[in-house]
Amino acid sequence: MEIIPNVHLIPNIVANPYLLIDPDGLTLIDAGLPGSQRKILRYLADLGYAPKDLKRILITHADFDHVGGLAALKAASGARVYASPLEAQAMLDRHASRPLKPRSMVTKLLFNLMAGLFKPARVQTDELLLDGKLLPVLGGLQVVETLGHTPGHISLFAPSAGILFCGDSIVSEENGLRGSSGANNWDQAKSDESVRKQAALGARILCSGHGPVVMDAAGKFPQV
Ligand SMILES: [Zn+2]
Repeated sequence: MEIIPNVHLIPNIVANPYLLIDPDGLTLIDAGLPGSQRKILRYLADLGYAPKDLKRILITHADFDHVGGLAALKAASGARVYASPLEAQAMLDRHASRPLKPRSMVTKLLFNLMAGLFKPARVQTDELLLDGKLLPVLGGLQVVETLGHTPGHISLFAPSAGILFCGDSIVSEENGLRGSSGANNWDQAKSDESVRKQAALGARILCSGHGPVVMDAAGKFPQV
């Protein structure tokens, strides 16, 4: 699904992967649950691209619904993997970058079951993403440190297009946007700070890891 020219949401995958098209090749933001590589490569093929056209895979954070298809995609394409140092370490260790905080035994069992069921393959990161780094994508794609959901979470902002990819730092729901919170949130104060930081960027389009893309995003950011 094309959001704006050269920016696509690859549909029907948890979590949302975004495809960015530049003259020198393709960039993917996040890689979905394990098995998502099939849908992602099929989407590329439908646009007329081969797996090797995928040059970069940028990871917002190491949760299994964002890195599940990563190892297979890297193997199929030869793409370079980019992540923050903490999330890169979690991908090597094959677990989330922070402990979860289930309130009940049932939730705890559910978390453990999901972690076992969706355990992603080990992935070596090729390039570390630090706050302020500018990537040669969409005329300049800026790394924005947005800690809180996880301790190494990053967002990606393309000022030229006014488009912000916020991972799970802000969740898009049918009735609006909300900041990360709850049992899978690492630090609430930092999450709130990251929402305020992103609201100040002046993005026109918000692409979250979950839920619909928000056009005319200015003024719709959560008040925290
Ligand atoms: Zn997620």
